[in-house]
Amino acid sequence: MSNIIQGAVTPNEDIIIMHLKVTAVSPIYTGENKVKEVKERKTKNRIPTRKSGDGFATINLSGILRAFSEKMLKSSGACDVARDAKGCGRPDCITCDMYGYLGKKGRVCVDELKTVRPFNEVVDISTHPRIDRDTGVVTKDQGPTIELEEIQEGAELVGNIVIRNPKERDIEVITGALKAIETHGLGGWTRRGRGRTKIDVTLEKIKWSTYKDIGKEEARKLLNPDKEKDKEKDKDKDKKSTQAVTK
Ligand SMILES: [Zn+2]
Repeated sequence: MSNIIQGAVTPNEDIIIMHLKVTAVSPIYTGENKVKEVKERKTKNRIPTRKSGDGFATINLSGILRAFSEKMLKSSGACDVARDAKGCGRPDCITCDMYGYLGKKGRVCVDELKTVRPFNEVVDISTHPRIDRDTGVVTKDQGPTIELEEIQEGAELVGNIVIRNPKERDIEVITGALKAIETHGLGGWTRRGRGRTKIDVTLEKIKWSTYKDIGKEEARKLLNPDKEKDKEKDKDKDKKSTQAVTK
């Protein structure tokens, strides 16, 4: 984990974007929670891993991030949304303040993690024969072998966590929870060694007023499409001439 936040943050002005790069150290089984997808893609004993509409493997991060944040902060009075799905909403509850509760949106928005390469290139099927608990022997006749779709070791997943009106404590809590995810696993079958990851974080700090400048720049391009084309041409010319010089 890298890049400690530089300088203090100004509430109500700043937005922090945490760019995550997650590398699979052991295979990740993400599970699929859309009933329709499971019905369509589950064949025989094969359990599907979640696939995005545009063909990448994805995994939900928000649930586990909040769960580990709550575990970390239990002694500091954070509530447990596994027990109370609504969230307590007490002003001193750090996780309700960050992630929200019923009736109030959180300040922390967590993307799904998505593989950099397409689903078919990073997902493989592993088979798990059923083992008799008493004898420890693979049982051929009692019950089927389970097949799991898994994201393979070395695969990279990316996603952002966006924090509005950030507090420095938010970054501490999230990086702590991410460390816990590295150790305890992401996704399913973690007790069998699945879901070990390495998580790299880079921070980007922007201000709401940044969007004003972006808007200005984008509007200029939209209003002057011809000028933009000329600029592109000039760039190409510059490239060609420098290439000629270097030759
Ligand atoms: Zn709470």
